[in-house]
Amino acid sequence: MDRQADINDPVQYVQGIGPKRAELLERLGIVTVRDLLYFFPRKYHDRHNLVPIAEARPGEQAMVLGDVTKVNLRRRGRGKGVLMVEVRDESGEMRAVWFNQNYLADRFDAGDTVLLWGPVREYNGIELINPGFEHIGAEEHGGIALTDEASPLVPVYPLTEGLSQGQVRPIIRTALDAYGALLPEVLPEGLLARYGLPGIARALADAHFPESVEAKEAAKRRLIYEEFMVFELAVALRRHAARSAEGIAFKTSAEFDRRIRKLFPFELTASQEGALTGILSDMQSSSPMNRLIQGDVGCGKTVVALYAMLLASANKYQSAIMAPTEILAEQHYRTITKMLEGSKVRVRLLTGSSDRGRALAEIERGEADIVIGTHAVIQSDVTFHRLGFIVIDEQHKFGVMQRARLRWKGRLPDVLVMTATPIPRTLALTVFGDLDVSSIGELPPGRRPVATKKLSPGRLGRAYEFIRKQVAAGRQAFVVCPLVEQSETLDLRSAMETADELERRVFPEFSVGLLHGRMSAEEKERAMGAFARGDMRIMVSTIVVEVGIDVPNATVMLVLHAERFGLAQLHQLRGRVGRGAEQATCLLCGNPKSEDAKQRLKVLCETTDGFRIAEEDLKLRGTGELFGTRQHGLPDVRIGDFVEDVETLERARDDAAALVAADPKLGRPEHAALRRRMLDLYRDKLNLIGIG
Ligand code: ADP
Ligand code: MG
Repeated sequence: MDRQADINDPVQYVQGIGPKRAELLERLGIVTVRDLLYFFPRKYHDRHNLVPIAEARPGEQAMVLGDVTKVNLRRRGRGKGVLMVEVRDESGEMRAVWFNQNYLADRFDAGDTVLLWGPVREYNGIELINPGFEHIGAEEHGGIALTDEASPLVPVYPLTEGLSQGQVRPIIRTALDAYGALLPEVLPEGLLARYGLPGIARALADAHFPESVEAKEAAKRRLIYEEFMVFELAVALRRHAARSAEGIAFKTSAEFDRRIRKLFPFELTASQEGALTGILSDMQSSSPMNRLIQGDVGCGKTVVALYAMLLASANKYQSAIMAPTEILAEQHYRTITKMLEGSKVRVRLLTGSSDRGRALAEIERGEADIVIGTHAVIQSDVTFHRLGFIVIDEQHKFGVMQRARLRWKGRLPDVLVMTATPIPRTLALTVFGDLDVSSIGELPPGRRPVATKKLSPGRLGRAYEFIRKQVAAGRQAFVVCPLVEQSETLDLRSAMETADELERRVFPEFSVGLLHGRMSAEEKERAMGAFARGDMRIMVSTIVVEVGIDVPNATVMLVLHAERFGLAQLHQLRGRVGRGAEQATCLLCGNPKSEDAKQRLKVLCETTDGFRIAEEDLKLRGTGELFGTRQHGLPDVRIGDFVEDVETLERARDDAAALVAADPKLGRPEHAALRRRMLDLYRDKLNLIGIG
């Protein structure tokens, strides 16, 4: 070979990989040799679990290695049947039995060497029931003798149709031999030494073909740390760059403060004051603010944001609020204009449709002080006269990577992100590490927590009676039907049918209306207006209500098929009631089958504490789901887990911060490889262009 081997070579350069295999590997996301080396086993067969057939005990799990002596399939029609495969090793004989998997019969021939694992029972001799299996051919299993004392753990890869474990193992072994030494060590030696972590070549070898359980664990620790470190480094750099930029230093005074507070019909809670203190100190400093304010729906985030915007406008700067939906933008508009009645501050709602041209002109001429719209609307073609402050109301729809994509002309404005999905603090500090975090942990005084009860569909009648009483007493109610993307039409029909049924049969004496996502903006506006005015007493809605309506007179929410909603989603929904002084009730009607669904409903009945719910949600679903990794552009971590490995994540965050403090440009030679890797992975995603 005269050319230099490179870790980014296409996989076909590895001996044993032709065009066909390369194509199969590509389906697994493996294109380069690096991808191949970072393609990790899903699990390992532990040779220590392997027992001689004669020692397999009924009632226990066993793994055996034997030769097939006989294959016998008894069909019972239509795919049903019993497949029996006899195997033998030096110690004895047993049978492997599969029920109703007739197609497996073709996979076994007399003479095959197979590895089998599963539960053992005694039934006319010793049997393995529906065991897992793998063929161990002489040339197939890649030189890893299962009986070889030196390699007790045999890797099992998450493969695709057409590729066998026996094909992949030797390929990876060859790649490790040829390329393993070429991988640059990205972690500085000091860090490796501090944590006793293996170097990259050792770690990769041990991740694939570990010599012991300890070696495998050490390799995993190192690879997780590396993954998090590279990510946290990108976040730390972003944070550093953001903070050293020149932003706006807003001025405030006791006089401003007094004037602004006079606009609010209430005193701020201690929690709100705490958040405000952080925001004000950021605003007064000349480095741009990047702050996350988190707290349950209704805890008073918007009010705090409004204070900040008023301060901006007192400093002759414009502000913008970006809401995730038009409905929410309109609601912000209503709330804010109402609070600002009698003040000179000019508020503009910028929607896709009505009067857009005029609003745009006003914004450009500086005749609008506070501009409210959706993310899409404000990001597109709006030119501000003097934009100084941005509120992103993300309602858990907007992540670190999306924020990185926002660009603003002119001076760097201060940015305040509001989220109603509380995140456990450690995690917030880590995955939103480019932001400072304020939490509002208490509700305004006089608010009573929503009473939550679950009921089975058979008792729906009682729920209706409860609603009848409440509505007759002058209150209003939501009835929420789930809308699942896969069968949107079907669900929509069911929401319409529910509305119809409630209107004609159940509540003929009340006015019942419908709100769903397919309605036009005007239709939605009309429905919401009717409900807000109290003309509509019962609103049947699909999930769109989640981020929608603020009607303090609504005291009951009935959720149908509650088992189909996520925990955080239900918590958000529930936040739509209990916004007034009256005791509110949330009824979760459903028939949860899975343990997870039961647990979700149980947690909701037990607590209204958003932080506790967030933690439970994390436990039940993992971070990927909560943040919607793809959608939120959290890094696609392969080995580490944001929840399970949170301690490693925190360590990586601290180490990354220290590293950036000591070497802000990562210019030192010992940081060169780390810097390159970080830019490869995150330059585009985190908008690190100025940094790289
Ligand atoms: P969030 O944005 O967190 O959902 P909002 O700022 O919209 O919360 O406040 C929810 C409701 O509580 C609003 O009707 C608001 O006027 C009211 N509110 C906010 N802060 C207070 C307070 N300190 N005391 C009493 N009511 C408050
Ligand atoms: Mg709000």
